[in-house]
Amino acid sequence: MESVSQSMKQMMSELNGGSDRYRELIHKVLNNDDVKNFLEKNKDSLDKDAIIKSLSKLYEFVSEKNKINSGQASTIPGYEPELKINNHLIDISYCPNEATIKARKQHALQKRIKTLMMPKDVNNASLHDFDMDESSSRMNVLEQALNFIKNYHKTDKWLPGLYIYGSFGIGKTYLLGAIANKLAENGVDVTMLHFPSFAVEMKNSIGNNNVADKIDAIKRASILMLDDIGADSMSSWVRDDILGVILEWRMQNHLPTFFSSNFSMDKLETEHLSVNNRGDDEPLKAKRIMQRIRFLSKEYLMTGSNRRPQ
Ligand code: ADP
Ligand code: MG
Repeated sequence: MESVSQSMKQMMSELNGGSDRYRELIHKVLNNDDVKNFLEKNKDSLDKDAIIKSLSKLYEFVSEKNKINSGQASTIPGYEPELKINNHLIDISYCPNEATIKARKQHALQKRIKTLMMPKDVNNASLHDFDMDESSSRMNVLEQALNFIKNYHKTDKWLPGLYIYGSFGIGKTYLLGAIANKLAENGVDVTMLHFPSFAVEMKNSIGNNNVADKIDAIKRASILMLDDIGADSMSSWVRDDILGVILEWRMQNHLPTFFSSNFSMDKLETEHLSVNNRGDDEPLKAKRIMQRIRFLSKEYLMTGSNRRPQ
């Protein structure tokens, strides 16, 4: 079997009869490193005749590669040509480039996360960037989050979510976002709501008769995260007919639920849920809600410094 470089040399010399322009094109194609490597790798399955018949494909390949390498738009933006053998001849397949693959992954991931009025930076929150050296409580809550993510697919046992509480600006929402992104990467559907804004939206939806539909979609999410629960005073209606209904469904169906709050569970019960926005004292109603929250999640204190600009 003659070597590829020999047969290429021979092809070049046989082209002496062709036009200058044609010779130049062939020269450019057969001197391209990718083409040379491809021909060398496939020398056993390609004879000279096949290479000659495939010259137009090789030329297309080299032109597209040159366009991409010089920063011009290729014919199929986001895709790169690759040489392959098809039916004893050389052919080109166009494969998504790295940026396209990354964008597709990101898109698939974002489709798995539904957010409602969450800050934009949760989209990019990552567990790798969660700083835990400040305190052991941060290390503990991160460890619990990682355990949840690890065990979510593994176990049939009931796995409660995390109720993360601590003061303002320490990264509770950021951590929920990072957990959501990791779960979505693993193929899990996650819904995240800023609870006070969601409550306002529900109130505004009353006239449209679609409150039940909205609650329905939310209560069924595989993972639900209620951010900033307790930040605004609630009406009895929001507490019992919105929050209560969602939590009741999730408890019955064993669907893990995450919370973030400035209040511990005890304080949420006595200082927030017990008193409605008209100031009525309703401790029994608060107890009922808290029983569900305590079933659906486990409480972790998080500490740290306030990262928000003062
Ligand atoms: P909390 O919910 O506890 O009030 P946030 O999660 O909103 O606090 O965090 C406050 C600010 O600090 C936000 O702008 C957030 O993006 C940022 N932040 C929090 N944790 C991190 C982190 N580990 N890396 C980068 N930014 C962070
Ligand atoms: Mg927050």
